[in-house]
Amino acid sequence: MNIQSPRTFTMKDGTEIPIGTFYCIGRNYSAHAKEMGASVPDKPLVFLKPSTAYIPFENAVLTCPVFSKELHHEVEIAIVIGHDIPIGLQSGFEKYIAGYGIALDLTLRDIQKIAKEKGEPWAISKGFAGSAPVSTILPFSTYPHFTFSLSINGEIRQKGDTNDMERTFEQLLAFCHSIFHLKAGDCILTGTPEGVGPLYSGDIIIAQIDDSLKMQCTIA
Ligand code: MG
Repeated sequence: MNIQSPRTFTMKDGTEIPIGTFYCIGRNYSAHAKEMGASVPDKPLVFLKPSTAYIPFENAVLTCPVFSKELHHEVEIAIVIGHDIPIGLQSGFEKYIAGYGIALDLTLRDIQKIAKEKGEPWAISKGFAGSAPVSTILPFSTYPHFTFSLSINGEIRQKGDTNDMERTFEQLLAFCHSIFHLKAGDCILTGTPEGVGPLYSGDIIIAQIDDSLKMQCTIA
């Protein structure tokens, strides 16, 4: 991956937000939990990616790290925090949000499988450099409803609808904030719908939200 990646999210108006930590939600769509042979957890399943996971989505050339042979796509809605959230806040998170975008939670499925079997953390399989391509960030004032999709070489592989989320954006923010204290630049990856699968050299990936945002990248 390109280690010279900028260290900021870019808003549609050109404003830049220094990147914090990625808080990623697992199994937030029941059909995806099922395809992974799992169920929706009682509490949100959260794992982290470091800021170096970020790579600008548009026109990115993604590579599978040399220590893995199985790079998987998971398309997700990203929520970026615009202002530090007061400690103790339990509701009304939307006014601290800078905006939303489309992202990939890239996953080294072979490494993750071994980690699951051994009961080890997912830090390597989920948090490697370049594991979080994120689009330009679009502002919103109230929580939007989205449909979103991912296609590979012109074929739709994943389709999502935020109405199908097991936990809402507000619930995810409240949970993460209660544990981690969310700050400006932090990003919540809100879970992937069903249809995850492998990426291969030469693949052309297009991810989009409704008609509002469309991003393309390729696999080296
Ligand atoms: Mg994911």
